[in-house]
Amino acid sequence: MVRKLAALAAGLVAIASSAAPAAAEPITFVPGSAGVGDPYYPLQGNGGYDVGHYDLRLRFDPDGHRVDATATITATTVQNLSRFNLDFSGPAIKSVTVNGARAGYRRDGQELVITPAKGLKAGGAFTVTVSYSGAPEAVSDATGRQGWLKTDDGAFVASQPDGARSWFPSNDTPADKATFSFRVSAPEDLTVIANGERTGADGVDGDGYRTTRWDMRQPMAPYLATVAIGHFVVSQGTVDGMPNVTAYDPSLADESAHLHDFTAKAVAWETGLFGPYPFSSVGGIADGNGSVTALETQGRPVYSGGPTDNLEIVHELAHQWFGDSVGVRNWRDIWLNEGFATYAEWLYREQHGGPSAQEIFDRHYRKDGAFWNLKTGDPGQAHMFDENAVYIRGAMTVHALRMKIGDGVFFPLLKTWAQENRHGTATTADFVTLAEKLSGKNLGSFFQSWLYQTGKPRV
Ligand SMILES: [Zn+2]
Repeated sequence: MVRKLAALAAGLVAIASSAAPAAAEPITFVPGSAGVGDPYYPLQGNGGYDVGHYDLRLRFDPDGHRVDATATITATTVQNLSRFNLDFSGPAIKSVTVNGARAGYRRDGQELVITPAKGLKAGGAFTVTVSYSGAPEAVSDATGRQGWLKTDDGAFVASQPDGARSWFPSNDTPADKATFSFRVSAPEDLTVIANGERTGADGVDGDGYRTTRWDMRQPMAPYLATVAIGHFVVSQGTVDGMPNVTAYDPSLADESAHLHDFTAKAVAWETGLFGPYPFSSVGGIADGNGSVTALETQGRPVYSGGPTDNLEIVHELAHQWFGDSVGVRNWRDIWLNEGFATYAEWLYREQHGGPSAQEIFDRHYRKDGAFWNLKTGDPGQAHMFDENAVYIRGAMTVHALRMKIGDGVFFPLLKTWAQENRHGTATTADFVTLAEKLSGKNLGSFFQSWLYQTGKPRV
């Protein structure tokens, strides 16, 4: 990636520290890269630092659909930084500070380029605060509309894969997870739901606004952060001692009738299959008009237009293990998310009086032609959510593996994969390695034919 060195003064500075011992080398500060090299989204993420926590404060004004926001990001440098980037294409910036001191900044497409007053030494903690104000707009690309999505009475957020930058500045790569706190202010007749647990609410202020606080205490990729603001019917319960918080827009009451109870049931069933649930609360949010599909926002999926059926809930909750806790390091490996979540639907049907996973597999295997045209393990950016190549053939890959290694290895493999990569990220190669280790089989040509070739694999 070639980036212009506009902030040349701080761009590449060698400082000889007079206070250091005579033998000390001069410290060279260099710019952090504008992306982390994702094959599908090369500008996502940024080089030179690792985020630990996002503190997001938003005040939502329904008139004009505006936000006044301050994002405070706590991070650790992994190189000496003269400047660094955040991913942000949201509303107009009012100020940027680094460690409390005013910093230089400029916007370059989806990049926010920040030049602190002083270089940041490798291995040190720093805090960057960005204040901004305006009406967030969703991002659109070949995968659809994403990010901050307006509704009649507020907004909800579904950012996969590239929409986080529409509403807060972040290191927007699935590979950099962090904890989040949300303090969202809205007129008191509106309800605010976010990821994690509701950890407090202030009294109504003089303008008729109430601030609600939510915290996601386990590491989360920026694209999985969500806030929903609007009129909601909220249900609260527990699953395995954890809070189960679901909410639906009153206009989606029919579609959401089973959301609360079935969420509890599905999480319990999946915990039996996949091992301990990775977060400290569960739930779901039904909002919007269905023009955007559901998303596995961490701990609390969003169902646009309400969940279409219970299998959609099974799918989004399976992602809590496969996609959220065990994240992809590169979007190219998206089948690790969608293939496993789709296979969870097949397993649910198999164990609840529906067709067996084998019958579902066989029905799809009979298909010919375009169904096999893309590579499941590298479908291309525009096709990363292709129903046939990624969801169905991803699940077929999982099922074919189950047939090859047997249930006695396959089901422990699911749990081991979830446990070993809990709250981390992984690649297809990591999965192949683990499957080979647990099965004692060489699976290279098997995965090659299912993931990296077009055409129908032999079974
Ligand atoms: Zn999915």
